[in-house]
Amino acid sequence: MSIDNINKPVISCEFFPPRTDAGMEKLIATHQKLNNTIDPAFFSVTFGAGGTTRDRTMETVKQLCSDKQQIIAPHISCMGSTKQQLADLLDEYIELGINRLVTLRGDIPEQGSPDNELSYANELVAFIREKTGDHFHIEIAAYPEYHPESVSPDEDFKYFLNKARAGANSAITQYFYNIDAYTNFVEKCEQAQLNIPIVPGIMPITNYANLVRFSDGCGAEIPRWIRKQLAAYEDDLDSLREFGTNVVAHLCEQLLQAGAPGLHFYTLNQSDAILNIWNKIK
Ligand code: FAD
Repeated sequence: MSIDNINKPVISCEFFPPRTDAGMEKLIATHQKLNNTIDPAFFSVTFGAGGTTRDRTMETVKQLCSDKQQIIAPHISCMGSTKQQLADLLDEYIELGINRLVTLRGDIPEQGSPDNELSYANELVAFIREKTGDHFHIEIAAYPEYHPESVSPDEDFKYFLNKARAGANSAITQYFYNIDAYTNFVEKCEQAQLNIPIVPGIMPITNYANLVRFSDGCGAEIPRWIRKQLAAYEDDLDSLREFGTNVVAHLCEQLLQAGAPGLHFYTLNQSDAILNIWNKIK
């Protein structure tokens, strides 16, 4: 699949670095299942707030890219890293044959913002371009429902444009369940003559309490009709998961019909929920 082929959706899947050897074994099995069924264009690997999982991210990237056919896109953040550390990390990724990155400022750790040499993701994008030219395909984060720290929608969008124009190739959105938020965001990009692909991030629905907690933290809205139905199914996991699969599969279909250039699945290191959605939309 090619990001340049707008007729073929670019499917990608996101993992987080496991904490244990058993978790890594499970992840390798999940990776294989998703590869065999969905065959994503790439897998991405997150890092923890403040760069806390830097080593585990690297270890996971190395595990997954031992299959040379596989495109792995590590997430990279300027939070808690010096420019020298970032430059060293970029060199290491180049040596590993990595040519795609998801480039972020990163979340501010609970104990507060560390001293950063680069403050925002646009500066990191510019730094990567300065150090490595066009080597990397750079993905950035987009927030159709606005970033939780943003002062105003207009400011947030202005900063998104700055970040994109610093040298990004494409963007992946925070998840959302209201398609209007996405189409409105894409229209605003078109009006601003920003023509990079904006790939919707897709969060499966498998657990009510976790989804609510996570959504409150990252500023993603769960529409009332979904929240009410999930609450009603809280003690009936099968019905909750079936409902969640139908809601998210329908969202994916609507997005692709509306011209979304791909889908980025937040897998949470599990394959079942993603495969259930996939089987409904393929
Ligand atoms: P930025 O684009 O820098 O924006 C951060 C905030 O600052 C926004 O409110 C923006 O409006 C504002 N801002 C931007 N530029 C300026 C400026 N010049 N002056 C003042 N304000 C400004 N988090 C992790 O910890 N690990 C991950 O692996 C991870 N992966 C993610 C993947 C995706 C696809 C997405 C959507 C998010 C991910 N996140 C991850 C979460 C992300 O790190 C947080 O949302 C973080 O708070 C913001 O990162 P950013 O790159 O969007 O920041």
